[in-house]
Amino acid sequence: MYSELKDVISSVKNYIEFERTAGVEDYCIPAPAPKAARTAELDTLKTEVLACKYCDLHKTRQKVVFGSGSPKAELMFIGEAPGQDEDIQGLPFVGRAGQLLTKIIEAMGLKREDVYIANILKCRPPNNRAPLPTEIVACQDNVKRQVTLINPKVICTLGKFASQTLLKTETTISSLRGNFYEYNGIKVMPTYHPAYLLRNPADKRLVWNDMKKVMKELESR
Ligand code: URA
Repeated sequence: MYSELKDVISSVKNYIEFERTAGVEDYCIPAPAPKAARTAELDTLKTEVLACKYCDLHKTRQKVVFGSGSPKAELMFIGEAPGQDEDIQGLPFVGRAGQLLTKIIEAMGLKREDVYIANILKCRPPNNRAPLPTEIVACQDNVKRQVTLINPKVICTLGKFASQTLLKTETTISSLRGNFYEYNGIKVMPTYHPAYLLRNPADKRLVWNDMKKVMKELESR
């Protein structure tokens, strides 16, 4: 037991040393707010984000798509960026891909209102083009703050872009999916994006396997 503790301390020290060489000085992981305070803080964040003009997407967006669902959700889904339907309605995953996501959530025995759904980018890239690195940097604090406030037990990242951005990796989605990773102490399950499933319905089976792992994880806590 004592030697295990020594190993943990030594690997934390090595990790901090490694981070220092990369210029990281700050090691503050914010504690989650009490549940009752979260709704108010999430509303404050939403007000800020709705007025955001940090990147050029504000010039072409119709509505900012902040996110929706329960601030107390144990499960959070994170997608890439709003598409046309989301841009019009100001809500995440309301188009065809969103309808499939709703079916997946319901097949898990949950309702959309029980989970929280957000995107990495809060504004639609014109013609649904891939998000630019500058847009990701401009928007990254928003999803981080949403995760901290909601503090879910499990995050499910939908597709390559959300998975690679949250986990800071370039590993392909087909290698990432189906395995749990960690983000600030929260379990992350990458899976295929519902829009991909609309084009490749045979892979719904794989996503269902991933969701079964998520359900098991949620039940185990
Ligand atoms: N695709 C996404 O990644 N997010 C949405 O909100 C809709 C489609």
